[in-house]
Amino acid sequence: MTTFVLATANPHKTEEMRAVLGDLGIELLARPAHVAEVEENEVTLEGNALLKARALVMATGHAAIADDTGLFVDALGGRPGVFSARYAGPDATYDENVTKLLDEMSEVDDMDRTATFRTVVCVAYPSGESLCVQGTLPGRIGRERRGSNGFGYDPVFEPDDAEGRTLAQLTPDEKNADSHRSRALHALVDALRTSS
Ligand code: IMP
Repeated sequence: MTTFVLATANPHKTEEMRAVLGDLGIELLARPAHVAEVEENEVTLEGNALLKARALVMATGHAAIADDTGLFVDALGGRPGVFSARYAGPDATYDENVTKLLDEMSEVDDMDRTATFRTVVCVAYPSGESLCVQGTLPGRIGRERRGSNGFGYDPVFEPDDAEGRTLAQLTPDEKNADSHRSRALHALVDALRTSS
């Protein structure tokens, strides 16, 4: 079985990644508690995901996996994008980020509320080799929060194929079956199979 150390300590992401990759035959080891948080100071999702995966390889000597996700809103010229975690400020909560997004979008017409979640997943190896893939999920930004599942911007993101429901109104199984993150993880498994 393939084993990677997880770079994220985010419980929501960990759960989603374990749920998808466990079914695909990849085991994820928890991020060791002594490893310091990596500052995500790159300007692309790929840059940040690689930075995080490589930091875990350095700290553990084991192959590692990291993801980085952004919400790209068309009416905002692609913002918050790579800065999605810090949209409302350096230590912003999920709730503060969503409030800022709804405020900025308050005058935007229904037809112009399109957006895309994009996740980049990278694996890095002690040899220095690495591999990155991505998954995207097109949808729209709603006008108010709906649903209590998931995390982050889930309560205001309506995937195109979800019949008007937000990601936070989907069950965890429904989200994991077809989200930006699960699409990226399936792409990773395909890429690993091709490269082995
Ligand atoms: P990160 O840098 O990959 O942790 O993600 C940046 C921000 O995007 C997070 O702080 C969340 O607000 C948001 N985010 C990441 N993944 C998801 C998701 O699956 N649903 C909703 N929001 C997400």
